[in-house]
Amino acid sequence: MLVAILKEARPDETRVALTPDAVKTLVGKGVSVVVESGAGLNSGATDQDYTAAGASVSNNRAELLGTADVVPVVNVLPPADQEKLKSGSVVIGFLRPLDDPGALEVSVKRGATLFSMELVPRITRAQSMDALSSMATVAGYKAVIIAADSLPKLFPLLMTAAGTIPPAKVLVLGAGVAGLQAIATARRLGAVVEAYDVRAAAGEQVKSLGAKFIEVDLGGLQTEDKGGYAKELSPEALELGRQAIAKAAKVADVVITTAQVPGRRAPLMISTATVEEMRPGSIIFDLAAPAGGNCEATKPGETVVHKGVTIFGPSNIVAEMPVHASMLYSRNLVNFLQLIVKKGELVIDRADEIIAGSCVATGGEIVNDRVAAALKARA
Ligand code: NAD
Repeated sequence: MLVAILKEARPDETRVALTPDAVKTLVGKGVSVVVESGAGLNSGATDQDYTAAGASVSNNRAELLGTADVVPVVNVLPPADQEKLKSGSVVIGFLRPLDDPGALEVSVKRGATLFSMELVPRITRAQSMDALSSMATVAGYKAVIIAADSLPKLFPLLMTAAGTIPPAKVLVLGAGVAGLQAIATARRLGAVVEAYDVRAAAGEQVKSLGAKFIEVDLGGLQTEDKGGYAKELSPEALELGRQAIAKAAKVADVVITTAQVPGRRAPLMISTATVEEMRPGSIIFDLAAPAGGNCEATKPGETVVHKGVTIFGPSNIVAEMPVHASMLYSRNLVNFLQLIVKKGELVIDRADEIIAGSCVATGGEIVNDRVAAALKARA
């Protein structure tokens, strides 16, 4: 069985799907690995590191695509690469099947078996494959570091001979994996932190990190689905949240927003009017920008200044932390691969809950109902 590691085609991507450590594990399990020359450079891994781990190196991308049985990726392959895939091969990565199912069309037609890391069910057995959590952890940390660096103020409380500097006030919206990491990072830097989430369960976690939880009475509304994710809220419930947020945002130095609802546009939580009430020099870091953004004034992929407030809307924040983002992602992928590789051969047990949940397409057919519905909605 041959696994090919390619250089990511997306121009702003710095991560690599599998690191040399992962190669060592796979080679130890009887798998052959070829890496496209330079694939790991941006994440700190040289061709020599890959060779030392047991991979061979090639400059022939087309040949890699045409011979590999498994192609682990970070992002969806461009159509021209999908055309070259060996028939029946396996592609696994962040395939965005609910956001842009059309981008997978060519590989589906070629009969590839596609696994989406976004669709790995969040069950206990799959925790070591939870790539969304890995990336959210990196994103939450990096957002606070960039915000702290850009803020024209210090984060911690400082008592100096020249007087006392009060701690920065940070507001975190959405207290899932990224939000909790943002809270922990901001607290470590000495900020005073408040957070809001629609899921009541998030309140305890926020408080355990030393932050204040903003309570909003939604009249007993069911805000969480079976999978522990937030549901899409009614306009009225969203508005109640926005009012509480507006009050806290007015006095915040930094607002980090992370709120998402899987498969939907990110909820709008900060109106432009609220931005205009914030103090000049304050910062909004919108981690939900790739899903449309939590702030009305966010421009996905850009940093803008609106009436003195800087709004970051990065499209690929984890690519700014490529070494550890690649390390975590690669470990998640290797754990997944171990489910489908037995004694050096591909063995795909479609009855396995993790395999069934994450499989998007096989044998020329879309096999995931949500993805099929998303494709139909776009047709
Ligand atoms: P996410 O990235 O989908 O969303 C981030 C946060 O935004 C969530 O906490 C969500 O509740 C919140 N949110 C959505 N709409 C909102 C709104 N209108 N107002 C305020 N907040 C809003 O979520 P995530 O970080 O991937 O995790 C979501 C849940 O899954 C959490 O309960 C998390 O603990 C759980 N989880 C479980 C596992 C596991 O069991 N293996 C792994 C990771 C996460």
